[in-house]
Amino acid sequence: MRVFTTRGGKEWIPRYVFSIDKDNCIGCGRCYKVCGRDVLSLVEQDEDNDEDIKPYMDIANPDNCIGCEACSRVCPKKCFTHMEVQA
Ligand code: SF4
Ligand code: SF4
Repeated sequence: MRVFTTRGGKEWIPRYVFSIDKDNCIGCGRCYKVCGRDVLSLVEQDEDNDEDIKPYMDIANPDNCIGCEACSRVCPKKCFTHMEVQA
C-alpha cells in the first residue's frame, strides 16, 4: 500500500475518499467546508432536467484527494467510505 510519513517521520497511510452514501447524505456541507483539496461538490439539481432535488454531496475530483479523512470526521451521517491504495 501507499505509505508516507508525517513531518516527525511517523508512518502515515492515506485513506482516500472512495464513495459517499448519497441516500444517507443530508447535504449539510460540513465535509465540503473542511476539504482543502476541491474534491467534493454539492449536487442540488437533476442533471437531466435541471429540477431541484434533495441535495447530496458528490465526489467531483477524486484525483485531488490526499486521504486525510477530515470529511469523514465531520460528517454527522457517516456517509463516507475510504480506501487505501496500492503503491
Ligand atoms: S479525505 Fe481529505 S482531501 Fe480527501 S475528500 Fe476527504 S477531506 Fe478532502
Ligand atoms: S457531511 Fe455528510 S451529511 Fe453532510 S454533506 Fe457531507 S456527506 Fe452529506
